[in-house]
Amino acid sequence: MRSIFWFRRDLRLRDNPALAEAARISTDVIPVFVFDPGLLASAGPARRAFLADALDDLNRQLGGALHITMGDPAEVLSSLAAGLGVSAVVATGDHTPQARRRDAAVTAALASIGVESRYVDTPTLGAPGAYRNGSGQPFKVFTPYFKAAALTHVPEPLEPISADWRAIPSTVDPHVVLRPSQASTFPVSLVDAPPPTALPRGGETAALHRLEQFDAVVDTYDEQRNFPALDTTSRLSADLHFGCLHPRQVIAQIAGPSDGRKAFIRQLYWREFYADVLAENPRTAHEDLNPNGVAVDSGPIANERFIAWALGRTGYPMVDAGMRQLLTEGWMHNRVRMLTASFLIKDLHLDWRWGAAWFMWRLVDGDVANNIHGWQWTAGVGTDASPYYRVFNPTLQAERFDPDGTYIRRYVPELASITGSAVLQPGGGGAGGLFSNGYFEPMVDHAAEREEALGRLERSRLRS
Ligand SMILES: Cc1cc2nc3c(=O)[nH]c(=O)nc-3n(C[C@H](O)[C@H](O)[C@H](O)COP(=O)(O)OP(=O)(O)OC[C@H]3O[C@@H](n4cnc5c(N)ncnc54)[C@H](O)[C@@H]3O)c2cc1C
Repeated sequence: MRSIFWFRRDLRLRDNPALAEAARISTDVIPVFVFDPGLLASAGPARRAFLADALDDLNRQLGGALHITMGDPAEVLSSLAAGLGVSAVVATGDHTPQARRRDAAVTAALASIGVESRYVDTPTLGAPGAYRNGSGQPFKVFTPYFKAAALTHVPEPLEPISADWRAIPSTVDPHVVLRPSQASTFPVSLVDAPPPTALPRGGETAALHRLEQFDAVVDTYDEQRNFPALDTTSRLSADLHFGCLHPRQVIAQIAGPSDGRKAFIRQLYWREFYADVLAENPRTAHEDLNPNGVAVDSGPIANERFIAWALGRTGYPMVDAGMRQLLTEGWMHNRVRMLTASFLIKDLHLDWRWGAAWFMWRLVDGDVANNIHGWQWTAGVGTDASPYYRVFNPTLQAERFDPDGTYIRRYVPELASITGSAVLQPGGGGAGGLFSNGYFEPMVDHAAEREEALGRLERSRLRS
């Protein structure tokens, strides 16, 4: 029997149970990747570059047999299956709202021509709904979810799959398809923001290398993970998003008795949790999980403020360092993601969706579940409503998590020559302050905006 293996968010040969299934049921397997124009349009420059690398790496490992094509997956796969005498299309399951719609259409199209579709495994450890609370309901907060999920045995990763790959020439060149495109949905000043210049290599080979490197430093993760200048988190997020690694492999390598290892594994389960929350609540891809009715600004001034935030020109050094890290690396440290998100929502009073869209466009690890629910958490409309009261103070955050200003100086060149703690203060440094170096005046007064944010929350409470 001949099958198609449809690669999606599982761009690897190791520990790929769906690929193992295709190899088990078939005498020859046609490995296929389909560019879906709808999905492609939402991929910014960092994810495009990472995906191009990942496809190169996969194709190399498959001995050049990867068939890369483009179009509506339902049409493309049924036409390939019909033309090549394929009996089954096998893929790893995917439970994002968009993936479910797509897979339902593919399954129906294949069934109509008598071809079976088989979805095996998921990009997460457990399929959505795998863990439930005592009343059989989905968990709504992380800690009990983690306690339940962490009890479940994680199977050992599978060996790399080999099969009789059948090569069909590709119809598109991925490097042409994945050239950076413009972000037409953003204000014009953001459309031309240059692509990142310091991106990680994508692909299974690079991901395994990163995992090895992280294994050597993970024992201090619990102490160091909140200090962005140290840069000692795993940076595996894009690998996990594209499935160049599965979390099973991460756990097999990293799990261990040290506090660093335990803290890291716990953190990894946030990804599991948010995938579950999104799968249980598909509407949250666009809507608040728990709306709080806080008014947000719009109009020309709001647009200008959004642009200043997105380009790292707020005049708050730690916020700007984070936004510039995002621009140059397509990645931002988690502590700074929380701070920059809080600044957009609570200092600028903008809709979290604006920030989430910019993150999604620029991040190499842009992932709908993690991104949307990271933003909703910060906005106090997600899985934990209390963070609305927790307004991050950008100066105190800098003092606490970048006390000598190393992170700020690394990403804000205008401030690179300012020594000591003056670099942490908006407008700091005495006469002329930071502005003398071409840096920006603080665009808002944090103390006043904090009051404004809490006042808006109070007013929304009175209205409801
Ligand atoms: C506003 C906001 C937006 C975010 N957007 C994304 C996104 O689009 N894609 C994304 O992968 N993560 C997102 N995160 C979560 C987190 O910031 C990143 O996963 C993390 O910074 C990636 O770096 P790392 O791999 O070095 O993390 P590590 O600290 O090494 O963590 C290991 C892995 O655990 C998972 N993880 C860690 N923290 C979280 C978290 N808070 N939520 C969900 N998963 C987590 C990730 O898969 C990560 O790769 C967002 C967080 C916030 C606050």
